[in-house]
Amino acid sequence: TPGGSSRAKEEKIFVTVRVRPLSKKELTLKDEVAWECADSQTILYKGPPQDRAAPTSYTFDKVFGPACQTDVVYEEGAKDVAMSALTGINATIFAYGQTSSGKTFTMRGVAESAVNDIYRHIDNTPESEFVIKISAMEIYNEIVKDLLRPDSAPLRLLDDPEKGTIVEKLQEEIVKDSQHLRHLISICEGNYRVLSKKKKWIVIITLMAFQMIAEQRQVGETALNDTSSRSHQIIRLTLESRLHEVSGCVKSFVANLNFVDLAGSERAAQTHAIGARLKEGCHINRSLLTLTTVIRKLSSEKRSGHIPYRDSKLTRILQLSLGGNARTAIICTMSPALTHVEQSRNTLFFATCAK
Ligand code: ADP
Ligand code: MG
Repeated sequence: TPGGSSRAKEEKIFVTVRVRPLSKKELTLKDEVAWECADSQTILYKGPPQDRAAPTSYTFDKVFGPACQTDVVYEEGAKDVAMSALTGINATIFAYGQTSSGKTFTMRGVAESAVNDIYRHIDNTPESEFVIKISAMEIYNEIVKDLLRPDSAPLRLLDDPEKGTIVEKLQEEIVKDSQHLRHLISICEGNYRVLSKKKKWIVIITLMAFQMIAEQRQVGETALNDTSSRSHQIIRLTLESRLHEVSGCVKSFVANLNFVDLAGSERAAQTHAIGARLKEGCHINRSLLTLTTVIRKLSSEKRSGHIPYRDSKLTRILQLSLGGNARTAIICTMSPALTHVEQSRNTLFFATCAK
């Protein structure tokens, strides 16, 4: 295609994988480390031989081992994409991975670093005027809720001929400074947890039913009582910039920077769930599944063909930030533990498809 390889490179989805340290629980259970970062781009399987022809080596744009701090993950895995929003390009950073693999931990640190960089840029660019707005949503069972107004009714999606899909009545706050922004983000995160708590009793009853039916004592690691494993959180910064040039011209742009903390990847269809978890797994997360399809199609050689943005709320909301004038980084998080090897392989498989 005309435009050359640099253009293709720009548009490529930047895919990284972060392996967290063994958790206290995993250490207590004497779980083994099954993965090793061989170099800055390769993850190797180091566990006992497996009975099927599974890959032992995976390569990505960058990989981060257990000792790696989040600011390095940001610098090498998300910064370029995040900062492109300051030049008018829509940018999205995803955290993808199994529940308790480190998505929220990573996304929080990445958002914090990005906010610092954005305000540093604004301070260093006095000739431009900037307005930053924040909005935040949770998608749970294909229902969109406003995290800045958690008691409001579910939000509807509307199709705008110019702006694409818009979230009706979504609250937007104008941000005064970086401290104010941090405060607003913490409100969104607080509400995320409040929303989760409200639904907890339903989950507990469901859980009890599962236990009775399956007569299984063990409640899977999936933290079934945690709604955050089933819902997607989007924190969106809208950056508006105006530059008054000496010539009298005014250059302006508006771009979104989305931080997306996805539902646990065990909610995607490929999960090989058994017993009680199979029933649980029947609630396949439509948004997560559609996102994986959309990402796979966007990354495939020819981007032609139908991309099913409209099949889920998440992909509708993010459509203009995924296709078109947009850049995307996906940080896949995984546990190093041998007991999670199946889920980790699913994550690595997704990451491979997204490259
Ligand atoms: P998820 O959002 O994927 O369910 P979390 O981000 O909540 O997972 O992480 C699960 C736990 O592991 C949390 O207690 C978190 O603090 C811890 N954790 C995750 N990643 C790391 C890391 N890279 N280093 C240290 N602790 C981590
Ligand atoms: Mg989380």
